[in-house]
Amino acid sequence: MSLIKTKGLVIKEQAFKEQDKILTIFTEDEGKIQCIARGVRRPKSGLMASTQIFAYSEFVYYPGKSFGSINQADLIESFYPLRNDLTKMALGAYLLDLMNNAFDFFQKSPEILKLLLHILYYMAQGKAKSDLALVGAFQMKLVSYLGYRPRLDRCSACESQENLNFFSIENYGLLCRDCYSSPGYAYKITDNMVAVLADFLKEPIKEIKNREYSSEDMMKLNDILDHYIGNCIGKGSKAYAFYKSMLNPLV
Ligand SMILES: [Zn+2]
Repeated sequence: MSLIKTKGLVIKEQAFKEQDKILTIFTEDEGKIQCIARGVRRPKSGLMASTQIFAYSEFVYYPGKSFGSINQADLIESFYPLRNDLTKMALGAYLLDLMNNAFDFFQKSPEILKLLLHILYYMAQGKAKSDLALVGAFQMKLVSYLGYRPRLDRCSACESQENLNFFSIENYGLLCRDCYSSPGYAYKITDNMVAVLADFLKEPIKEIKNREYSSEDMMKLNDILDHYIGNCIGKGSKAYAFYKSMLNPLV
């Protein structure tokens, strides 16, 4: 089989045998793939930096039925500053985990990959007024891309446009004051938070990074959207649970 050359982001790494790694890479041209990177845990391996988690590299690999085999990897961007800040690191790891959970092997999405790369760059370089808003925008744009855009303009149960102050996980969007006791889990949400969700959906990420958002609202929206995504794709994020436990070590 002939070699494939494509750029990609390492979204998961697992140690394998003595000196190897199994990498999950979200590539531009081939989508989500899994590759064995031989010898990259040797201290002198020239591929150590280009095959670690968060590395965006140009990969050359031999494709296989389930695992490819890395032949060459040239680092393009390491997002290194994420490693110097525990919160950024945990948030970044969450975004990679979402990416991994949301796509099947060989499923492609160059547009979502590009969005993720922009967000990791802004986060690593400290370019955003709120990292949590970047995370929220990624959650919202990703879940909508997957076909689960939550309904924000009307009550998901009765179509009313008034008093839409509850976000229902199982009803895929907002519920009004009269319907919020419908079966399933509903979060209380303010008009301002609803407006922010609409921003997350329609505004480009370069716009979101310049806006001031309340940290308290962002945390609530991140929680709601993580719960929502987990319900939509049928898999919760362990990285989000880790991030939350890091914020509240005593809970
Ligand atoms: Zn209603």
